[in-house]
Amino acid sequence: MYPFLSVLLLGSTALAATIDLPLRKRAVCGPGIGSCAPGLCCSQAGWCGTSPAHCGGSSCQLEYSDSCDTVIPPPGSSTEDVARDQIGSVPYGVRIRQCTEPKTLALTFDDGPYDYTSEMLDLLDDLDVKATFFVQGSRINRPRFDDESTQWPAVLRRMHDAGHHIASHTWTHRNLNQVDSDIQRSEIIHNEMAFRNVFGWIPTYFRAPFLECSVASGCQGLMNALGYHLIDASIDTKDYENNTPALAQIAKDRFLTGILQDPAEGGGHIVLAHDVHQQTVTNLTEFMVGTSLAHGYRLVTVGECLGDPKENWYRDVDGGSTTPTSATTTTTTSSSGPEPTSTFIISPDQTCGGATGYTCQGSAFGNCCSFYGYCGSSPSYCGTGCDNAFGSCLPQSPGISDTTNGLCGEAFQASCANYGDKKCCSPHGYCGNSATHCGVGCQSLFGECN
Ligand SMILES: [Zn+2]
Repeated sequence: MYPFLSVLLLGSTALAATIDLPLRKRAVCGPGIGSCAPGLCCSQAGWCGTSPAHCGGSSCQLEYSDSCDTVIPPPGSSTEDVARDQIGSVPYGVRIRQCTEPKTLALTFDDGPYDYTSEMLDLLDDLDVKATFFVQGSRINRPRFDDESTQWPAVLRRMHDAGHHIASHTWTHRNLNQVDSDIQRSEIIHNEMAFRNVFGWIPTYFRAPFLECSVASGCQGLMNALGYHLIDASIDTKDYENNTPALAQIAKDRFLTGILQDPAEGGGHIVLAHDVHQQTVTNLTEFMVGTSLAHGYRLVTVGECLGDPKENWYRDVDGGSTTPTSATTTTTTSSSGPEPTSTFIISPDQTCGGATGYTCQGSAFGNCCSFYGYCGSSPSYCGTGCDNAFGSCLPQSPGISDTTNGLCGEAFQASCANYGDKKCCSPHGYCGNSATHCGVGCQSLFGECN
């Protein structure tokens, strides 16, 4: 059961009036109990509410709620009617477990973007490796990725600009074998709408949550009808259950065991990992890259490892909506913690800024709200891009300063000139040293360029 704590999502105008009310709830929805009132979500633990913890991800109980994030599409028109010609020679609607190009290896990362994705992109730049990201629309503790008031659209654009392959991993990570055909469909269409809002295209590659997409459930038929290549994996690192420095060795061993077995018919490997786990970014990935190269593999994207030209990876779509949703809600948590002293609520979970409205000032995590919306006290939180509306920041020196975290350019008045070996400021405001950073569009005012 949950501790004596509950979370409510309130309109900011209602906040002052309700902040002192005791926030008590007990299981009031679910099997044998019934549904929440219209507009409320039934959480996994059987509480009605409207917070991300009630409505987000795949744990919101669809049978007892009408407002789970699963059924709420992103802005803009549906992509339902997009033409879906089955271009190229890679099969549609059937499971693909391995590469067809000899001695290739495709690293794939599911469930992002998330806290560690930017660091993963830094790492892949450093290692000069292109990977494939199976992106999930909306998850608990991370709003939908097309919300322009958050950092996620920029993170995804950076991913795309860097040459990685981007694919779909559903809207809210439902097990597609366990939901009805309407939800199967909306899990795919809603994610497409979000891709359309960020990029103006929808992907043609897909991985099912939990790798669950059977013929019997209708999932594979739907994949075929909607024009998706269904990608499994030949090596599953199980990084998600080995996310500590000690356990990471298990994921490494699983990877090594996998690549020592040659794939059938002289093809290559598709490797499953997740950019939402810290050890995968700080530990496992560099090992996988080094080991692959040592064993003679060529590290490529899933599209490349199947011999599919890049123009087949996405379908252009018109009719996007770029209207950001309003950020007029404030999330508040009631617990035995200190009472808030203003309309800002002190962050209970390290998040801050536009996405949650929490302030870092006085939080247990540090007083600075970083560009990425997390509280901390180191220069990477308090320096470049720090949001002083939701905490305090390092005093900003007048004029252009050295970046503290690899963000750069006009928006941050920060330069890469003294940022290690990443001295070029890319068109999207990231320090690096690749052609994407130092070539066309490189911001010469904020670092070096070719
Ligand atoms: Zn997943």
